[in-house]
Amino acid sequence: MKNNVNILGINFLNKGFNEVVELLSERIAKGIKTFVVTANPEIVMYARENDEYRKIVQEADYIVPDGSGIILAAKILNTPIQERVTGYDLTVRLLDLANQNRWRIYLLGGKEETNKKAVANICEQYPHLVMAGSHNGYFKGKEDKIADEIKAANADIVFVALGFPRQEKWISSHYATFSKGIFMGVGGSIDVLAGEVKRAPVVWQKLNLEWFYRLAKQPSRWRRMLALPRFLVEILKVKR
Ligand code: UDP
Repeated sequence: MKNNVNILGINFLNKGFNEVVELLSERIAKGIKTFVVTANPEIVMYARENDEYRKIVQEADYIVPDGSGIILAAKILNTPIQERVTGYDLTVRLLDLANQNRWRIYLLGGKEETNKKAVANICEQYPHLVMAGSHNGYFKGKEDKIADEIKAANADIVFVALGFPRQEKWISSHYATFSKGIFMGVGGSIDVLAGEVKRAPVVWQKLNLEWFYRLAKQPSRWRRMLALPRFLVEILKVKR
């Protein structure tokens, strides 16, 4: 099985969920700076149509397959990917490991209330991790100040929840100034951590229908979700 699988120009890491977690833990233990993109079909399509964003995503150390659309595409192209590695699952597992290892966490993003609630829930559920700092995701004009604050927090993991493409752009434009830390765009995961949005029940996830659950819960997402059929059309073109 290939170590990386290319889907419409995006090179996905082809490792199981546990292997990815192990890889990231090792890098945290060694203090190796790491940029992770959890890419779904929307991100792949956006990267395809936007040169600047594509370059940013391609700079990442690891791009993991967030979403069953990516797994399906890999299957259609006869280059199967082992399994889904979602941003939310990765976040939860890393928080658990942070709790065991007393890692330092920084949570950037969400509305002020959401960020506060997420921090409170994390501190309650994972009392041994160090909440090294947090800030809401609306900080226009204070870009450098926030980056300095994160540097001072000396975080092992910086979760960046600004939604795509903003979160990857933010990571990329400040990455060079950091000397350590896992930097990962986690989008709407912060809303789930804050208890404001529910993750699809496991049965829906197993049936690969998480996207449908999200659409039913947040119908305003329908326009963005049109990326999914467009993505599949592109995959079928490549297949031919
Ligand atoms: N967000 C933010 N700053 C922004 C735009 C969005 O902090 O400038 C937050 C938003 O409040 C939400 C999270 O990013 O908590 C995820 O947004 P969205 O659902 O659009 O992202 P996705 O999950 O699709 O990446």
